[in-house]
Amino acid sequence: MVPPHFLLIALPNRGAMNPALQLAEHLARIGSHVTFLTTVFAHRCMVDPVCVEGLTFTTFSDGYDDGRKPGDDTERFQAEMKRRGSEALRGLIDSSSRQSLSIYYYYFNGYEDVIKNVTSQSCDTTSLIQLPDLPPLANRDVPSFFNLENKQAFVLPKLQSQFEQLNEGGNPTVVLVNTFDVLELEVLRVIGTVKLVGIGALVPLHFLDAQNHNSSDKSSRGDIFRGSEDYVQWCDSKEEASVIYVAFGSIATLSKEQKRGMACGLLETGRAFLWVIRESDGDDDELIFKEELDKKGVIVPWCSQIELLSHRSIGCFFTHCGWNSTLESLACGIPMVAFPQFGDQMTNAKLVEDVWNVGVRASEISEEGTIVEGGEIKKCLELVMGGGERGDGISRNAKKRKDLAMEASKEGGSSDRNLKAFVEEFVKVDWIKCFMLD
Ligand code: UDP
Repeated sequence: MVPPHFLLIALPNRGAMNPALQLAEHLARIGSHVTFLTTVFAHRCMVDPVCVEGLTFTTFSDGYDDGRKPGDDTERFQAEMKRRGSEALRGLIDSSSRQSLSIYYYYFNGYEDVIKNVTSQSCDTTSLIQLPDLPPLANRDVPSFFNLENKQAFVLPKLQSQFEQLNEGGNPTVVLVNTFDVLELEVLRVIGTVKLVGIGALVPLHFLDAQNHNSSDKSSRGDIFRGSEDYVQWCDSKEEASVIYVAFGSIATLSKEQKRGMACGLLETGRAFLWVIRESDGDDDELIFKEELDKKGVIVPWCSQIELLSHRSIGCFFTHCGWNSTLESLACGIPMVAFPQFGDQMTNAKLVEDVWNVGVRASEISEEGTIVEGGEIKKCLELVMGGGERGDGISRNAKKRKDLAMEASKEGGSSDRNLKAFVEEFVKVDWIKCFMLD
């Protein structure tokens, strides 16, 4: 039989590129042909794209071959994607949790008023809503797009049109989701005509598997930034589980007040830390305690996150709870302190703290947005790093999730089986549509 040929188109940001590359490799390893299409810039930034048989890379120019700057018009990328893809592009793969996807789905399918009811009460953390198969959610747990006052609300019409596409024609639609079955057991796998298929954790397997940690099986990393490798040597010199890793993904921009609160909290713990502050996050000199920070920790503009999370010295991840970061932390068994900024990060933080019990949440929502005092940050970091009944429970839970992620992702695991079943169906059935919502 002729192997199926997938065209995989990835947005040129890390949150989309990393899982897309893993998926491409997995598809190729199980015998499919994959053409991975992304922008000239994103491809140029990839470190050693791996040559797996069946996987080829190709590029197009989105007009930003030297990278985008804040304020650039990203619609152009999508227009180009549509032009290139049209018929070939059958859909999208999602990098959100199944629970966030369900919330989106419910919003556009009968629960808009229920959700608006809680999101319109900006500082109220006591009112809760109940959506089918989801835990009770407060305002701060719901993706911020649904709060119409929020500056991210512009995402809503785009989400809506994607969900309309999913429902088009009444035929079942498959959404491949970067999650694994046992992580989100309670959530329905089919909502309406949409089938949510867990194929994650889409992280390089050799990082999950401690025994193969030094394996030469290098996976694609798609690093948008290069350099700063010295930090690994610095980590090598630290004791096991003694370092706090701090990173807020590739999009969120921290305000000066937020950075100040974080710096205070980190310094107050007296613990070693590695903090990623991207160049676009503002001048380093804005950091009030720069000298003290430099004594206790390392600040880098970017790092290989998955490599760090699987380093024995890391004891806690202070994170914005982007879905990839959350999943990578779970897959590496690292407890989290969550400081979500916007979008589905709010829901991910809820899952981390209350559903999986693998971390605590530090943020508070105020009129000014998400802020948090240094004292609160210190308290949360100490809770996770300092032992004690709750901290130990959190660490144990995190280790359990790591085992489950490994189990699901390895050959024969649920995600591997789900992907193979999808490929088989894809070959047989000509109505199948697969969507990526990122
Ligand atoms: N990442 C990284 N190095 C860093 C910070 C982030 O490699 O210094 C990667 C991280 O491993 C993850 C992605 O960037 O795969 C960020 O995706 P996520 O969904 O967590 O956040 P987003 O950038 O979409 O807000």
